[in-house]
Amino acid sequence: MAKIMAVNAGSSSIKFQLLEMPAETLIASGVMERIGLAEGIFTIKYDGKKEETHPVLPTHAEGVQLLLDTLIEKKIVKSLDEISGVGHRIVQGGEYFKDSTLVDESVVEKIAELADLAPLHNPAHIIGIKAFQKALPNVPQVVVFDTVFHQTMPEEAYMYATPYEWYTKYGVRKYGAHGTSHKYVSQRAAELMGKPLEETKTIVCHLGNGASISAVEGGKCKDTSMGLTPLEGIPMGTRSGNLDPTVVSYICQKENLTAAEVVNILNKKSGYLGMSGRSNDARDVTAGMNEGDHRCKLTFDVQAKRIVDYIAAYYVYMGGCDCIAFTAGMGENLKHLRANVCNRLGVLGVKLDPVLNDTFSDERIISTPDSKIKVYIIPTNEEVMIARDTVRVANIK
Ligand code: ADP
Repeated sequence: MAKIMAVNAGSSSIKFQLLEMPAETLIASGVMERIGLAEGIFTIKYDGKKEETHPVLPTHAEGVQLLLDTLIEKKIVKSLDEISGVGHRIVQGGEYFKDSTLVDESVVEKIAELADLAPLHNPAHIIGIKAFQKALPNVPQVVVFDTVFHQTMPEEAYMYATPYEWYTKYGVRKYGAHGTSHKYVSQRAAELMGKPLEETKTIVCHLGNGASISAVEGGKCKDTSMGLTPLEGIPMGTRSGNLDPTVVSYICQKENLTAAEVVNILNKKSGYLGMSGRSNDARDVTAGMNEGDHRCKLTFDVQAKRIVDYIAAYYVYMGGCDCIAFTAGMGENLKHLRANVCNRLGVLGVKLDPVLNDTFSDERIISTPDSKIKVYIIPTNEEVMIARDTVRVANIK
């Protein structure tokens, strides 16, 4: 038995889960937020309890130290020696990383070098790694990249039709995101179907505030909707997804903005928020739709249409599909969006069971027995994947 800390460090937050492996039992979880501000927020859940405090957390290092002190103080662990490994989620691994790996100086340098492609995330991850290295100097640290799962995409799927030198000089290509989630869900889908992973063709719809779709054949990613950055693909909470790039220069001219400012709007003020004019949160947009607001209904219709465009393309690309799996906040909870998507897929023989789609919670099948493609809801679990990789890569017994 080994206890593994799965960490997701952001620029002002650290999310964590402490898991007992190989049983994959959750021991404690929580988040430290508002690091660097006058007052932080530290939330920890353990033993069925949830506690919140408001400590001052000048940097990530104090946050990590407080977390470790709290584990002892609350008797969640008797000694820090019980923590056998720390696994860090890293958003961008570029073409350097084809698997999760143990942290050393050169790994940290490469993550730093890739910050151009993930300016908000990669630098924050490094701060998180350093804080845990300082607090737990003898514990192996493993990095688990969101991009690794998508590294199996064939060249024809990841290359853009731009000047080839943009790729060779600057690494312009599709990298994808949410890979850890796509991997978990596609593996779980194979288990639920009772089929060897090698024989499955699955389309995973990760629909959270950020959203991406992937085509997974035999457990390997063949294509995914996010690109050089998470802006590509379907519309999301605040991101536009695909559009004609000329929109950028056109709006620069009309609104007297720079390209970076327009791209910022496409990342932060578009998608659900921009279209509905209400919120990036699907619950608010659903409320608007139910009140008869046209823009709210249109928001879901545009997204459902675009999701189906990807599913149809991936169905053809993989030469068929055994199952479609919905995951993440919206995929798991938004029954009207799942119905909107599945009803458009009737031509492929998809048949949704409205009772299963509407009434039950948690992991389940939601298609009818005669549906040609099985449809599942599979709650994602990125932390378990991080813990599994930490155990495997650091060879923890
Ligand atoms: P991320 O991790 O990308 O921030 P999540 O996976 O948490 O996002 O998903 C957030 C989205 O899921 C929001 O749009 C939110 O409205 C939606 N969501 C979460 N819970 C529910 C729910 N119970 N009913 C409807 N939508 C929900």
